[in-house]
Amino acid sequence: MAEPVKTHCPYCALQCGMAISATASGITITPRTDVPANAAGALCQKGWTAADLLTNGARLTSPLLHGRPVEWDVALGHVADRLSAIRLEHGPDGVAVFGGGGLTNEKAYLLGKLARVALGTSQIDYNGRFCMSSAAAASIRAFGMDRGMPFPVTDLAGADVVLLAGANPAETMPPFVRHLDGPRLIVVDPRRTATARLAWLHLRPAPGTDLALALGLLHLAVAEDLVDAAYVEERTSGFDAVRTSLAAWWPERVERITGVPVPRMREAVRALAFAKNAYVLTGRGAEQHAQGTDTVTAFVNLALALGLPGRLGSGYGCLTGQGNGQGGREHGQKADQLPGYRRIDDPAAREHVAGVWGVDPGDLPGPGRSAFELLEALGTPAGPKAMLLFGSNPVVSAPDSARVAERIRSLDLLVVCDVVMSETAALADVVFPVTQWAEETGTMTNLEGRVLLRRQAVRPPPGVRSDLEVIAGLARRLGHDFADEPGKVFEELRRASAGGPADYSGITYDRITGETEEPRETRDEGDVPYGGEVRDRADVRSGADVPGGGEVQDRADVRSGAGVPGGGEVGDRADVRSGADVPGGGEVRDRADVRSGADVPDEGEVRDRAGVRGGGETGQGREVGVFWPCPAPGHPGTPRPFLGSFATPGGRARFVPVEHRGPAEEIDDDYPVYLTTGRVLAHYQSGAQTRRIAALAAAVPEPYVELHPDLAGRLDIGAGDLVRVTSRRGQGQGVARISDAIRSDTVFMPFHWEGANRLTNPALDPTSRMPEFKVCAVRVERVT
Ligand code: SF4
Repeated sequence: MAEPVKTHCPYCALQCGMAISATASGITITPRTDVPANAAGALCQKGWTAADLLTNGARLTSPLLHGRPVEWDVALGHVADRLSAIRLEHGPDGVAVFGGGGLTNEKAYLLGKLARVALGTSQIDYNGRFCMSSAAAASIRAFGMDRGMPFPVTDLAGADVVLLAGANPAETMPPFVRHLDGPRLIVVDPRRTATARLAWLHLRPAPGTDLALALGLLHLAVAEDLVDAAYVEERTSGFDAVRTSLAAWWPERVERITGVPVPRMREAVRALAFAKNAYVLTGRGAEQHAQGTDTVTAFVNLALALGLPGRLGSGYGCLTGQGNGQGGREHGQKADQLPGYRRIDDPAAREHVAGVWGVDPGDLPGPGRSAFELLEALGTPAGPKAMLLFGSNPVVSAPDSARVAERIRSLDLLVVCDVVMSETAALADVVFPVTQWAEETGTMTNLEGRVLLRRQAVRPPPGVRSDLEVIAGLARRLGHDFADEPGKVFEELRRASAGGPADYSGITYDRITGETEEPRETRDEGDVPYGGEVRDRADVRSGADVPGGGEVQDRADVRSGAGVPGGGEVGDRADVRSGADVPGGGEVRDRADVRSGADVPDEGEVRDRAGVRGGGETGQGREVGVFWPCPAPGHPGTPRPFLGSFATPGGRARFVPVEHRGPAEEIDDDYPVYLTTGRVLAHYQSGAQTRRIAALAAAVPEPYVELHPDLAGRLDIGAGDLVRVTSRRGQGQGVARISDAIRSDTVFMPFHWEGANRLTNPALDPTSRMPEFKVCAVRVERVT
């Protein structure tokens, strides 16, 4: 029997490790234990059933031209001819490219190159704009760089308190919750979600008021003198302006706006402030608002005031959602970016990337429209007349989706690359059937910023090609020679990203498999990530870091300031000096020498007798994945980029004053109920994949509307009734689920089916251009 192939899950940003065995009797998936995200051997229901994607009867296996199967050459030739004609008539911006946060880094990179080099269009963006763009914008604003969660996920277990604003990982990425077993959990969510049920404290703000709540929490931190003044002084700028702006957000006012009682706010702030180590994390619930960037900024301000970001064992992070939501926003499929997370309007970035691409920097287009603005412009007199779409299904996933479908229908040419006939593919002139996760090789960058290798484990069905081959095939017919083999594309990506914030130049496929031993020297501020091992006589110096699972063995010398978080082990004879830190679960064994000021918190164990000093040598490191930035082949990667300083010009994190504005659409007599949307455990994104998996479809077979018993009573709606929900933009339907987990002024609909997003409001955040998915005003009625 062939060896199982180590790869990663096709779905979310946790990118759980899994091994795939393909035999005559079928395909088997087993969890890997060498990937920190799911090291406990966990997968969620979606991961366990992912093999069904590979054998699904709904797979497309032939190019389709106006619904009829045709040869690849015919389809590619037709598309290239039509694109040339449309470009001739309407100019380069007459063609749009729309990508996805599930595409590999290689695909995202080549798609950006296709747009800017072969098509010369500025009109490229992707569905990640709908996912985490507000958190990305807020991170760049505060820290000078967006690395999602700028620390390994395993660090969370060592915290005392974690505040989770607008995220429901117990349903969206269940293995992540294992990392939250230790800390006290504060959940901010209008719904009593599966995650909120695990919380020590659940704050339930009215939909669209998270920003006011964050301002209230920060007001209390200042009023109760809980601000970490030394940290604010040493590591930040702009606090005075924020402190002044907080005067208007006294707790009683915030309680009136949010509905969260002042004592609960106070409890939350004190827990965070008195914790030795704490994290503030945000998810889509806080981010998908017309004030999403400011909402995240307010939570970042809170974290900064309490001295959390850039400190070992504490921080701020965003829970990216899509599989390659992080890498997908780094390598050029975003309207305003070039590879390496560079700004497209930065002359030095243009010069560098143009050099790699062999073109004149002046020939590269500038920034284009953001995702919704692009979709809204399709087919209009000034907008694109053709669109190439990869890895996305906007007819289901875009806000105001009926209008988006109408715009898509008005195109002269729609080309869709997909695995199955999605709702958007069904509108296409040409559909290219493409390979998927375990049928191809490529890199994914998970929510920690860890670059991982997804390896091919099975042969694709006959008749399909990879997205890379489609992109290169079109480029070739337009007169450009692009590589289409993933390894070669990645080599080019490495060069294009060199010197940028997301520098991948030191990362190779070989390094990130975790199967090669490579010498690793642990220096000041250095880092031996999860699973790394610092062996005999290693010297871990000040500021170095051996996170969860790391092991510092015999005779190691862990000096002042070094950290060995949760699960780490400092073995026999180790010497842990003043200020070193071995948090929860760490173990300092026999004969270790723990000096004055060293810290071995709860559950840590310090056994008998003191021991021996270490000698300054290097050990061997072995890990899965490498964290960017990784600017040189020998560089170990950067699990915690902000430990020394932030990526701002002066190295300080920036406080930014923000004000609560409220939802773009308030409830009124005509639309008296809030709608909020989200995900369920069994389904992923637009549901194009998961709705076709029998076990997942059986778990949640149809859209539903969750409503409170009081609201259901007022509207004479019973459990199981068919319910119609109407907003100013359209209608959606679902089966009624009555639950007191939802507020009585709000209904919830999952967005995995057509319907929920016909209702949602495309009001855009002015900075990130994120639509307001999370709140709009609706009317609810029973369908008679
Ligand atoms: Fe893990 Fe996410 Fe896949 Fe579930 S969907 S197995 S949480 S990567």
